[in-house]
Amino acid sequence: MAEQGFEFDTDQWQAWCLLCGRSRGVPYNTADSLCPDCVEQYQDARFFRRILRSNLALSFTTIIPEPKRIPADLFTRGCKDLFLRKSRGLLRDPWDLLPYLFPADLRIPCGQPALFKMPHLAQFAGLGQTWVLDMSTYGLSGTHKDLRSWAVLSKAIEHDIKHLALWTAGNAGLSLTRLVKRWNATVPPRQRKTVYCLMDDSVPDEIRLELRGPYCWTAELSTGSGAILSRDQLYNMVAAMSGGKAEREGYWQVTDGWDGVGLFMYSLLAQQCIKFLRDELRKTKQEESKVYVILPIGTGNILFGFIRGMERFGAGRAKLVAALPYGDHMMQSFVPPEEREEEDEADGGPRRMGLAEPEAPKLTGFYSPLAPCLWKLTQTKDFNNLEFVERIEVDRAAQLEVAARLQGPDDATMIDAEPSALIAFGALKELARRIRKDGRGENPEDSIVLVVNSGRGLMGPAEWAISKRSIVVSR
Ligand SMILES: [Zn+2]
Repeated sequence: MAEQGFEFDTDQWQAWCLLCGRSRGVPYNTADSLCPDCVEQYQDARFFRRILRSNLALSFTTIIPEPKRIPADLFTRGCKDLFLRKSRGLLRDPWDLLPYLFPADLRIPCGQPALFKMPHLAQFAGLGQTWVLDMSTYGLSGTHKDLRSWAVLSKAIEHDIKHLALWTAGNAGLSLTRLVKRWNATVPPRQRKTVYCLMDDSVPDEIRLELRGPYCWTAELSTGSGAILSRDQLYNMVAAMSGGKAEREGYWQVTDGWDGVGLFMYSLLAQQCIKFLRDELRKTKQEESKVYVILPIGTGNILFGFIRGMERFGAGRAKLVAALPYGDHMMQSFVPPEEREEEDEADGGPRRMGLAEPEAPKLTGFYSPLAPCLWKLTQTKDFNNLEFVERIEVDRAAQLEVAARLQGPDDATMIDAEPSALIAFGALKELARRIRKDGRGENPEDSIVLVVNSGRGLMGPAEWAISKRSIVVSR
């Protein structure tokens, strides 16, 4: 029996195909996949051929829930304090949105990111203003995952789901577990939830041990050879871990199919953030400046959240830059080797020598429910009329160099970013170089850049080593 999908409140949520950007005309269901036309498009791609043959197409759920009946002008008001405030009434202000969309009374705030200028980073990269959207300020895990966890738990409370399983490299599990722990402390035993963290065996023991505790079980799965487990196989594992307590009716696996929920939350954040930035630029009469947004790419959640948010918001002049670790990353399967070679040559010779892979374990996974979207991005280099999303690979040297700027002894310039989050900052210099070199008619010093810091969650020994080393370098 396949895992049952969960259908969102029919009156409020619609399903959107993320690949073609069209409404599917049905309520959002976590078991739904792309529209048939889009499946048709990617099934010939080499990466997906084997997966489709093993009937795992459902794992790639690339639709997102889109709320109906939200007054359009709410989305254009900048959503100030959207993620902190309690509702004052029904949909008169942006902060009314969350209680309206997630009616379960979670009572724990969703948290708030910070947005500020970092002049020393602008100077370092040779760019104009450099802003940071800092998500290390989220209170539960110190990472962007808190937004997603908040939405997931809200829905689980609403539908009385007790067992939540997810794939995690550490931070998604940490975030959901901490939130569940706080929730459990406030409710009678029958309303308490349990989290099951499914982790690849490449995740260090330190992270696994840190997660394990009351209301959190961890399981190590050896998927290194490329195995993708079906929803059914995962359920059977969770059922065994729970000693038979996790019955299907009260169980959700909140990775596949739930990615859209996280993505929806990031799209709200993206609107809030771009609106704020535009307002700030207007004050200094720089509203005509080109804005670049650099984001780290792991599974693609933040990237597609920004894409969706900007589509809805119509923020024309912002351009997205996907920062990836040099070497292994999710998009590698879609970028043909020839193109990689050419890129290296275009950069002025064989750069491959001397380039080393950075330490970015949160970004090196090969599986993402958003894989078809990432694939399409590399095929068309365009996404629903947004300008080309640029890709920058960051090597170890660039990662260490920028780490020293962010994690050095100077408190005023410190940013809480784990090595994987540093990849976005590591792309700054290369972006400035490309703007200068490509003759786009732009001066990098007139460009405005926003770097998205995904934060600092659980780190293994190799990640700690990078953090420590960068501090030594800066001294
Ligand atoms: Zn479609």
